[in-house]
Amino acid sequence: MIVERIWTGNAYRNYNYLVACPETGEALAIDPLDSAKTLATARVKGWQITQILNTHEHHDHTGGNAAVVAATGARLIAHHRVGSRIAGVDRGVQAGDVIKVGRTVELECLDTPGHTMCHICLRSHTEQPALFSGDTLFNAGAGNCHNGGDPVAMYTTFAEQLAQLPDDTLVYPGHDYIENNLKFTLSREPGNAAAQALLPQVTGHDAATSPVTTLAQEKGFNVFFRLTSAAVIERLREHFADLPAQPDARTVFIKLRELRNRW
Ligand SMILES: [Zn+2]
Repeated sequence: MIVERIWTGNAYRNYNYLVACPETGEALAIDPLDSAKTLATARVKGWQITQILNTHEHHDHTGGNAAVVAATGARLIAHHRVGSRIAGVDRGVQAGDVIKVGRTVELECLDTPGHTMCHICLRSHTEQPALFSGDTLFNAGAGNCHNGGDPVAMYTTFAEQLAQLPDDTLVYPGHDYIENNLKFTLSREPGNAAAQALLPQVTGHDAATSPVTTLAQEKGFNVFFRLTSAAVIERLREHFADLPAQPDARTVFIKLRELRNRW
């Protein structure tokens, strides 16, 4: 499996991806908002885009579909219940479905509600596990829930699916927010050594060269995985007087998400 991360350089800080089979040159385009850059990258690499996957229905993920379909004839794949919110879907997928790319690439669909209720993450089981996480899990952060999402569903997705993936899983999200996200972690857990170490490397960085994190790293510096940290809970209780001394993980997640909304 070859992964090409395409930095759009737009105001929303989107990443687009091409995932290619090294034997056949067939490629899957994930959320190709910047259709021109996606098509140009495929051309340079000598790849044929045969499929497109939209992780979810927001325009900054679907806006390039028409141009890529027009140029390549690719089939469009999205969540099976997304309905008319994405135009021209050829294949609706649900949890456990597999997207094959060429001869060597197989990506498992995870049904990951939270950012929206029709959100798909893709998981690769290859020697180097990978997760294409859309707007669910970001490097050092979590997606917002205010455009059709639900923070309780997001918590369940994190706890029951994402946190269970292998530690060496590479995380390929839909946006570059790593600098702000690390700052948020440090605002909640000032002594977080992993966040302190990484922040200087990404301060004022070029997102084209941003680090690709692993799930093990995320568990260190992503506060949305640090729900049982005594330091996180103690500081949260300063904000939310009604929070018990030993709150459940779901409550901590939801309070963090609430703070991040207005941070
Ligand atoms: Zn979105």
